[in-house]
Amino acid sequence: MKPNSAAARDIAYHLHPATNARRHEQIGPMVIERGHGIYVVDDQGQEYIEGLAGLWSVAVGFGEERLARVADAQLRKLPYYHSFAHKSHPAVIDLSERLVGISPERLTKVFFTNSGSEANDTAIKLIWYANNARGRPEKKKIISRHRAYHGITIAAASLTGLPPNHRLFDLPLPGFLHVSCPHHYRGAEPGESQEDFATRLAEELDETIVREGPDTVAAFIGEPLMGAGGVIVPPRTYWEKIQAVLRKHDVWLIADEVINGFGRTGRMFACETYGIDPDVMVLSKQITSSYAPLAAVLISDEIYEAVADGSAEVGTFGHGFTGSGHPVATAVGLENLNIIEERDLVGHAAAMSAPFLDALHGFADRPLVGETRGAGLIGAVELVADKATKAAFAQPGATGQAVAEACHREGLIIRAIGDVIAFCPPLIIEAGEIADMFARFDRALSQVEATQAAA
Ligand code: PMP
Repeated sequence: MKPNSAAARDIAYHLHPATNARRHEQIGPMVIERGHGIYVVDDQGQEYIEGLAGLWSVAVGFGEERLARVADAQLRKLPYYHSFAHKSHPAVIDLSERLVGISPERLTKVFFTNSGSEANDTAIKLIWYANNARGRPEKKKIISRHRAYHGITIAAASLTGLPPNHRLFDLPLPGFLHVSCPHHYRGAEPGESQEDFATRLAEELDETIVREGPDTVAAFIGEPLMGAGGVIVPPRTYWEKIQAVLRKHDVWLIADEVINGFGRTGRMFACETYGIDPDVMVLSKQITSSYAPLAAVLISDEIYEAVADGSAEVGTFGHGFTGSGHPVATAVGLENLNIIEERDLVGHAAAMSAPFLDALHGFADRPLVGETRGAGLIGAVELVADKATKAAFAQPGATGQAVAEACHREGLIIRAIGDVIAFCPPLIIEAGEIADMFARFDRALSQVEATQAAA
């Protein structure tokens, strides 16, 4: 007999990304049917605050009519065209100009992909291609960081520094190195200041490049503020010290702004927040508020010139997707940027940051909370077994899971990254909604505290 409920059909036919498939067979899906503003509604009619904006991405909130209208109009006028072999269309031209206009000075060209992973693979391929074209074929290694998340295609997953994205996949590929995660709470020596910790990490990077040979290291990639790896706010002076090392060894910097970009840290790009001057910048997620799949790789003139020379030598730049610069996705992206600018959602995120971070830091003295951290409208609460020693739980992830489940019962969706609870609400969130979100979290945390105390 064929399964007929939505849950049974999901279990029967759908292999989920980033999900324990055996557990899914037992508990089935949470089926979300619609959304409005910061809320989504499941197939039982239960409404939730989407405390992670989907996957850190729905900047303008759910149910934004303007994006629906633009997508509809583009589908009727020109549903598809490509940009291979000199073809173009108005939406991709307009969005290219717009992105180059708002991004850091040195970035002058944009290449479009469908996903952040493809964008990071593209960034690596552009850098390899450019270094070959410039007669530096040895300069190919890429340095990333432990706990980083940069996606899951083969090169992007190699950049990612998380065991579940490597184990059983035969990754990372050779030539992809990882240095320390800039997490002061976990990584610093006792009594080490943020500045001294940053100095030590810059020295580690320097030693790594020297050990590998500067002529073999092409680029360093980092999220200005790490998102999916656990919301890691960089220690003070980290980025200026890292950039000094990269400049010394002529190593390019890729800023992965897939989560950070478009206002998340209270500036248009987190490169502005942290004083970063990248050679490559990768954008996705809030670029369309995830109403359509789209990502972008912005490159400096230096890289563009090398790639252009290479393409002339080969006869073409042999890279691109059927969906590169898709008309519907780029039209939605443009309108999404119009909304962000007209409503000043970047300024709004900056203004809402104080109530958001105040409420978040209010959990710091709770018995299960080791650290609270955040910037702009992104933050996390790290749960620990012992506040004094920072000891993690004997069963890693179980408490985070229990808090996530309690949040669901309270009508709040957040993300448990192991025992780190991440918050990244839509940028449109208002102060009253922030208070409501954390009130729900407070009740959920209290429930878990009570069960832990009883155990
Ligand atoms: N980079 C970062 C920083 C991300 O957070 C993500 C996705 N969470 C990606 C890249 C990969 O994007 P996608 O899932 O669209 O491939």
